Amino acid sequence: MGANLYELFHSRFPADRTLPFIEVPDGPIWSYGQLEALSARYAHALVAAGTEPGDRVAVQVDKSPEAIFLYLACLRAGAVLLPLNTAYQSDELAYFLKDAAPRVVVCQPARLPELQRLVGEAGIEATVLTLGADGTGSLTEAASDQPGSFATCARAGDDIAAILYSSGTTGRPKGAMMSHTNLGANATTLHKLWGFLPGDVLLHALPIFHTHGLFVATNCVLLNGTKMIFCPKFDADQVLDLLPRATVFMGVPTFYTRLVASPRLTPDLCRNMRLFISGSAPLLVETFTAFKEKAGHTILERYGMTEGGMFTSNPLVGERKPGTVGPALPDMDIRVADEQGGILPQGEVGIIEVKGPNVFQGYWNMPEKTKAEFTPDGFFKTGDVGFIDADGYVSIVGRAKDLIISGGYNVYPKEVEDAIDRMAGVVESAVVGMPHPDFGEAGLAIIVGAKDCALTPEAVIKDLKGRLANYKVPKQVVFVPDLPRNAMGKVQKNVLRESYKDQWA
Ligand code: ATP
Ligand code: MG
Repeated sequence: MGANLYELFHSRFPADRTLPFIEVPDGPIWSYGQLEALSARYAHALVAAGTEPGDRVAVQVDKSPEAIFLYLACLRAGAVLLPLNTAYQSDELAYFLKDAAPRVVVCQPARLPELQRLVGEAGIEATVLTLGADGTGSLTEAASDQPGSFATCARAGDDIAAILYSSGTTGRPKGAMMSHTNLGANATTLHKLWGFLPGDVLLHALPIFHTHGLFVATNCVLLNGTKMIFCPKFDADQVLDLLPRATVFMGVPTFYTRLVASPRLTPDLCRNMRLFISGSAPLLVETFTAFKEKAGHTILERYGMTEGGMFTSNPLVGERKPGTVGPALPDMDIRVADEQGGILPQGEVGIIEVKGPNVFQGYWNMPEKTKAEFTPDGFFKTGDVGFIDADGYVSIVGRAKDLIISGGYNVYPKEVEDAIDRMAGVVESAVVGMPHPDFGEAGLAIIVGAKDCALTPEAVIKDLKGRLANYKVPKQVVFVPDLPRNAMGKVQKNVLRESYKDQWA
């Protein structure tokens, strides 16, 4: 077997190809046989549009089974899949098109004129095809009279399978080059670690332009040769309707806070579920606890990033410690270093560094940045700040970019946020560092209060002064109706910093 990721999946498909791969709620069911035939047809269509191995195929489409077949078609044709967030507008797309110079662009039918114009302006040679939410469009038309079999292109392990852009939480998204081996190694590890079983049904409500929904969730299902129920987007009521028919669910923390808020969530509804997994952003201990009470399940939290998939996971069997992301995956090395790269002893807080077969090949078109983000001995500097406890469990305390240095002292926003979140009347909070005339930087707490919240900024500061060292206490507090979040439910601290930049000006 070659190193093409599709061949790895193919070796795990069920012998009975009439078995289901994707079920759309109130819609069609797609079998493994159809997966093979449709991915072949789409692969032929890509080749007919001029795609050669190594060429990029940019895809900005709604979530649909056909979009998954297109992902598999890219693997089969040896093309490099470049999924793009459907929220991206013209200016953002212009950057991605110029940066990645794709050979084929697949877009939503309504945006065809816009994408054609952008391809022209970028000065690239690309064929623009369409794929709608219902699976129709010029790509599907072009594929319809193509043969249902395709000789999957041979690939080397380090050939690039996808360029995935990061979420852009801290700045402009970076294109992480993921090889066939990177993706295959991580999927194989997770599939085993999370104990996938022959009868497993994954309830899929995540977007598929991001590593979580595209690689973590879908690749585990493909390796298992079983079914996923494929929701077009997350809708708490739809997920609650479907839970009794599923065994595994993967979500970002906001999915869980919405599920917990529903009176419909009960242990009976989760009677067939064996595993709830959370990641992509920190899961609040309150959500973890409330979910246990209401659903009777202990959420398994794991941690990773676009630049490698997953790095740590709480265990399937054994203690799932709330507020931690679990130990390193079995095939990964994880350590904590200081700003100068010195390795820190167990328990100390610093930058998390990772090494393993899943860690990406570098940032597309950014050799200097790639070089800067790896240590001389091959560890990737994640930019996340955390520590490892005596049992090897990793805790994330924030991002290096969000660290506040106030009066010369390091303040980890998460510690302050946790202290604020424990106050009665607080739903959630974000603490950001703002330029301050005396302290260099000072903390600003942005708080979402509950409906009946009677807290005042003064009361919050007074309460914190009794619980935290003075330098950690935010100098100002504001109340807001909600925090800005991106598609993955991550709080956009850069947006907050920008909104309040004149706070002490
Ligand atoms: P960008 O790199 O463009 O600023 P991003 O880092 O948010 O965006 P992703 O690759 O989608 O883009 O997200 C990875 C980051 O998400 C991690 O570096 C980490 O900060 C955060 N993260 C993921 N899982 C967890 C978790 N379980 N707990 C806390 N943080 C998490
Ligand atoms: Mg990142």
